[in-house]
Amino acid sequence: MSIDKIADKKEKRQGKPKWLRVKLPTGQNYKKVRKLVSSHKLHTICESGNCPNMGECWGAGTATFMILGNICTRSCGFCAVSTGKPLAVDWSEPERVARSVKLMEVKHAVVTSVDRDDLKDGGSIIWTDTVKAIRRVSPSTTMETLIPDFKGNMDQVQRIIDVAPEVVSHNMETVKRLTRSVRIQARYERSLEVLKYLKEGGMRTKTGIMLGLGETEEEVIEAMKDLVDVGLDVLTLGQYLQPTPKHLPVLDFVTPEQFAKYKVIGLELGIQYVESGPLVRSSYKAEKHLK
Ligand code: SF4
Repeated sequence: MSIDKIADKKEKRQGKPKWLRVKLPTGQNYKKVRKLVSSHKLHTICESGNCPNMGECWGAGTATFMILGNICTRSCGFCAVSTGKPLAVDWSEPERVARSVKLMEVKHAVVTSVDRDDLKDGGSIIWTDTVKAIRRVSPSTTMETLIPDFKGNMDQVQRIIDVAPEVVSHNMETVKRLTRSVRIQARYERSLEVLKYLKEGGMRTKTGIMLGLGETEEEVIEAMKDLVDVGLDVLTLGQYLQPTPKHLPVLDFVTPEQFAKYKVIGLELGIQYVESGPLVRSSYKAEKHLK
């Protein structure tokens, strides 16, 4: 049986609608990226987050790097990244990431991290070292940094502004009412404040929201209005998929038509760029979100 047929059968078993079926990763570029990621001991959110677009992105020679290890101090109900006591900070990580960006000839690098609430600086120094290292080793590469909320510590957020990546994202993940059940250690208002602070610091800002967790259309529109109020530039909306049975269940499969409707509403409300579709993830085709 072909690899596509096996994938198709698996998706049908899981009850996913046809618009969420994706091809299994394959191809030369995919293998090259996998080899580089493993030989440089890197972590990618593509793998840790079970991203459905991994085949497409890796096949196109791009990957989203996850820094500060692969163990998070938080335990968001949707997230496939492991929770626990993280290992000590690896100060050689920025150089390794930068060398890989160069080797992979990445034109636009997306960097994210686990949350490190255990660290005094929230991990902000490794963050800035990574941006600086990529710039030094691969000066033509543009960057998007998908940052945590740093527990609302704006001195730490300021460190990111000081190194001025081309795009700075911080994900809201869900609507206001569901924030507590979806990401227990976060706060909806705090995330809005981080986005506002970034915008006032001159950054191009971006956020992502997952749909299918039980939110209503009114709540999605309310979230979009809140994001307009903090001057958001780029919004991504995608379907939540349950990584394992232990994670939050999928309550709805939002149709492609509904995603298209949200896109129109977001643009009408004044968000400059809205990427909305079942398979959209915050880092997917991120190069399009540059100015
Ligand atoms: S903070 Fe980020 S990496 Fe950590 S559990 Fe939540 S979504 Fe996953």
